[in-house]
Amino acid sequence: MILDKFNLAGKVAIVTGCSTGLGQGMAIALAEAGADIVGVDYVEATETAARVRGLGRRFLEIEADLLSIAPIPGIIEQAVTNFGKIDILVNNAGIIRRAEVLEFSEKDWDDVLNINLKTVFFFSQAAARQFIKQGTGGKIINIASMLSFQGGIRVPSYTASKSGVAGITRAMANELAPHGINVNAIAPGYMVTNNTAPLRADEKRYTEITARIPAGRWGQPADLQGAVVFLASAASDYVHGAILPVDGGWLAR
Ligand code: NAD
Repeated sequence: MILDKFNLAGKVAIVTGCSTGLGQGMAIALAEAGADIVGVDYVEATETAARVRGLGRRFLEIEADLLSIAPIPGIIEQAVTNFGKIDILVNNAGIIRRAEVLEFSEKDWDDVLNINLKTVFFFSQAAARQFIKQGTGGKIINIASMLSFQGGIRVPSYTASKSGVAGITRAMANELAPHGINVNAIAPGYMVTNNTAPLRADEKRYTEITARIPAGRWGQPADLQGAVVFLASAASDYVHGAILPVDGGWLAR
């Protein structure tokens, strides 16, 4: 029956950047749907751990700095040692740096591209190798952005990284689909998290953005929960390389 296809009981999901914001919301959604969670972050994920365990699911906390790809093999190994396998990877950890194009620094370029794009590619590669080794197939869900489609203002490295995320989502989907691996992305609109705090503090930009959202409000982490469970579940087995906007209609406008 169709609702059974959304059930994630017995699945193991790695969620990066799970301590707060969208990553926390998605980790909780996957746990509500039945999955055990491997939560990766460079800060403690105390609240997420408590909420996942409160749902009766297991939560393995791994502290790692994803600015570098060095921790990735160890994360996969710890997940498999503790939970026996992995089924789902959510590449959520990401950062943004704001400065005008004429002032933009090399560090703000490299840091953002490293975590938002390079780590996403190599984490997905490592997960895909593990899925193939297991012979199970698997689900990879990247977190794209409106700036996978648009240019943005004062965030050139973020735009480059998220446009790249859309590209590698499609590229990896093409090569991994024959292995029973689905690679897709969610493109959140303007969401209320730490990432957008400076934008929301700028009254002019906040008002302009809000007025352009057909739904008339910014998104909350809970708004991604349906999309992530869908893309993590058997309900999306024939969906490959899609970039699913969850944006209150922003792109439709
Ligand atoms: P956030 O800043 O609230 O959360 C980011 C998470 O990533 C945090 O848990 C943080 O600790 C973790 N993180 C940051 N640097 C890390 C590092 N070096 N190593 C490991 N973990 C690290 O932001 P958010 O809005 O929840 O962002 C989550 C994802 O969603 C990002 O990829 C972001 O680009 C994307 N996104 C956000 C919005 C939005 O409007 N908030 C819109 C589109 C896409």
